[in-house]
Amino acid sequence: MADIIQLLPDNIANQIAAGEVIQRPASAVKELLENAIDADATEIKLIVTDAGKNLIQVIDNGKGMSETDARMAFERHATSKIRQIEDLFRIKTMGFRGEALASIAAVAQVEIKTRRAEDELGTFIEVENSSVLKQEACAAPIGTSISMKNLFFNVPARRNFLKSNAAEMRHIIDEFIRVAMAFPQVFFSVTSNGQQIFHLEAGNLKQRIIQILGNNYNAKMVSVNEETDYLNIYGFVGKPETAKKTRGDQYFFVNSRFIKSAYLNHAVNSAFDNMIAKDSFPSYVLFIDLDPSQLDINVHPTKQEIKFEDEKIVYAFVQAAVKHALAQFSIAPSLDFTLNAEIQSLDAVSKPFTSENKEAASSSNLYKTFTQKNQAHKIDANEKSELKDWKSFFVPPTPEGEFKNITENSGFEFEKRSINSTFNLQHSTFLQLHNTYIIASTHSGFVLLHQQLAHERILYERYSMAAHGKQMATQKSLFPVTLELAAADAALLADILPDLLEIGYQIEPFGSNTFVIQGTPADVLQGNEKHSIELLIEQFKHFSSDIKFSKREKLIRCMSRQQAIKAGQALTQKEMQRLAEELFECNTPNITVTGSPTYLEFKEDYLDKMFGR
Ligand code: ADP
Ligand code: MG
Repeated sequence: MADIIQLLPDNIANQIAAGEVIQRPASAVKELLENAIDADATEIKLIVTDAGKNLIQVIDNGKGMSETDARMAFERHATSKIRQIEDLFRIKTMGFRGEALASIAAVAQVEIKTRRAEDELGTFIEVENSSVLKQEACAAPIGTSISMKNLFFNVPARRNFLKSNAAEMRHIIDEFIRVAMAFPQVFFSVTSNGQQIFHLEAGNLKQRIIQILGNNYNAKMVSVNEETDYLNIYGFVGKPETAKKTRGDQYFFVNSRFIKSAYLNHAVNSAFDNMIAKDSFPSYVLFIDLDPSQLDINVHPTKQEIKFEDEKIVYAFVQAAVKHALAQFSIAPSLDFTLNAEIQSLDAVSKPFTSENKEAASSSNLYKTFTQKNQAHKIDANEKSELKDWKSFFVPPTPEGEFKNITENSGFEFEKRSINSTFNLQHSTFLQLHNTYIIASTHSGFVLLHQQLAHERILYERYSMAAHGKQMATQKSLFPVTLELAAADAALLADILPDLLEIGYQIEPFGSNTFVIQGTPADVLQGNEKHSIELLIEQFKHFSSDIKFSKREKLIRCMSRQQAIKAGQALTQKEMQRLAEELFECNTPNITVTGSPTYLEFKEDYLDKMFGR
């Protein structure tokens, strides 16, 4: 008789392994988000359609991968995060088992596009059923974008086992929140079926908690903060009135990893002692940081369970820390814990406030600017959540409407008037600072311009005008450049050709996926046109999940951002003067379309007051 044992082919072995790691769309979401965190991304975007059954995409601006690494990443047990057995006891990353991408590639159609900062070109790889279908160099922004389509397309039993979209979506949101909560310093967004459902600006933990759990927590949290040699614990517990009838907002993170622990949960409950009803559950978001050698996170493939070296110490510590926090809260009125210690100890805060100095203080200009709404330093929590993405709500219908919208929200003073004549910039000398800022004196003080943001505004209005009737001048290319694109990019370009023409790009289709650039807008440097179109397509693609804007609006925004003078570029007197003049001829000179100020004005009388004159 012949021998009967054989090694499983890779794709089958991977598929079996995948069963442990990827149970449902939410597990893939977790793995991809964690990879982005491990890559030190500061911006992470999640896009799903049909609750992830159809598409899960994670786009990060992290460190990206080399061509070889991108290919290796899909092998089983391939990881950059551990090398030797000792590393298992000092894990600082979210991943380390090297299984996620291999598993995902075994059960979905995966595309990855990635580029490191040091590489000129990125890498595109398409994998299906654990085999690479395509690998090629491509233009790509720094970072990684992974998309996985048709999860379990080749494992029908699993696919059928998935729950309704609503249920799977809930799992996805749970996983998302667990990652987003642990990394408040990272920007996150989630788009589901074309609609943005989360937009979390980077901030501190308290802000993140409110962004996620809702503003009603704002005044109802007590901060926990204890440090010892063995471990640190920090975060917030809800005041007793936030306790819930169902186990709701309870989050434990150990070394930034969300964990489920009935044992530690018990520790928190017991600290609440008689403060809440027996059948209700306290809310908390608590982080425990300790030496990784005191932990075993490798007891479960999804790493949601861990083993502490000494569980009892951790229990006692958690209980004591929460008790301490609650005790402080019930004897002292709750402080606004976003204020740091330095601010708390300032004279202005700690000295008694008499009616005299109150009056003196509140009539000063400084006071007024400091108490204006929505200044960065004025945290008005009630409005924070509504305002958090006001920038993206803003679509300029008319210059007037746009202007109103922004000034109401941005809180800085601005009167619409003929600024060039008021400022009388013609006789100003211009001073460039750090090759980024321009100072120009005006008859009543000075203005400080940001050259890139100012130029973005100028170009935006110029392109907008062009797109609404006044076509831009085209300069014919002396040596028409051909552009060969991937099919999808070609389709995209074909789609936006008419809009491009309006802003001055004359591009003609030239057979399959090829185009000829016959002319460019008068102010685009010749010789650069190919790169600039490729960049435009790239930006446009990344922008196109943003359904709030029309195609044309997106194009204009991409173009103005792309063509603007960058910070860091030295400018001549003439160039600075032209920039300032053109800015103040804009309909809305004071902000960019995304709401950043383009310049700040410093008035003489205000300056005098600052110096007590
Ligand atoms: P693990 O995270 O356990 O190492 P994965 O299969 O999730 O295993 O990823 C394999 C490797 O691919 C990682 O170790 C990392 O080097 C690389 N990688 C995965 N995702 C990214 C990403 N978004 N950015 C940069 N590198 C990544
Ligand atoms: Mg991973």
